[in-house]
Amino acid sequence: MIKLENIHKYYDKQHVLKGINLTVDKGEVVSILGPSGSGKSTLLRCINFLEQPTSGTVEISDKRVDAESASKADIISLRSSTGMVFQQYNLFKNFTVLQNVMVGLTSVKRINKVEAQKKSMEILERVGLTNRLSHYPAQLSGGQQQRVGIARALALNPEVLLFDEPTSSLDPELVDEVLATIKKVATEGNTMLIVTHELNFAREISDRIIFMEDGVIIEEGTAEQIFNHPKAERTKQFISRAI
Ligand code: ATP
Ligand code: MG
Repeated sequence: MIKLENIHKYYDKQHVLKGINLTVDKGEVVSILGPSGSGKSTLLRCINFLEQPTSGTVEISDKRVDAESASKADIISLRSSTGMVFQQYNLFKNFTVLQNVMVGLTSVKRINKVEAQKKSMEILERVGLTNRLSHYPAQLSGGQQQRVGIARALALNPEVLLFDEPTSSLDPELVDEVLATIKKVATEGNTMLIVTHELNFAREISDRIIFMEDGVIIEEGTAEQIFNHPKAERTKQFISRAI
């Protein structure tokens, strides 16, 4: 589970996150919607300290870290309990598909090569890529590359999975295969926080939806509440695009 308490983030004088409180329960799938620049990516990156929050606390399972007194060890420990899937896959170009998934297991988790390979193959099977093990990223479609990105995040067996617009770099015809993969991962009991512009997907997959604007959570609720009975005017305007 994830628990954020009063997270603030400033970039210089710009106040980007203005006191975010959010809990994601174990096994829960939560989507974050909101206009461009509202702070969605910053929020995700503050959870694993890819960006250091200016203040507030982040708790993942039993690890609780206060932004203002976080040690290096705290940050490493927090980071190792999250897996992140980025918009721009961030794969290692000189590694094959199999090596991209294995590398976290051998270098971070110090698992021996044989075991790491076995585990990686299992995960690549889950995302439907067993026929691409020896390909390099440049030899894959965007959708396949993103599925490697998902496999890599899954390999480390993180407490929580964070997705930042995992389909927004893809050609439209490749979006569905990646959404289907994420949906499958969601049904496997993973705790997931997903930033997405795919409103219909968010509606289908989410236990709960957060609507954010200008660094604040404006509204949250079930998909039914947010899409059919939004309370805030801004939420109404935003989701009207989906219907
Ligand atoms: P989008 O939907 O376009 O991805 P977002 O909701 O993810 O937007 P963020 O990327 O979190 O928005 O950005 C929130 C604000 O913080 C923006 O005004 C952005 O310019 C600013 N910002 C983000 N990253 C940095 C950074 N590294 N340095 C300075 N300002 C930043
Ligand atoms: Mg973003």
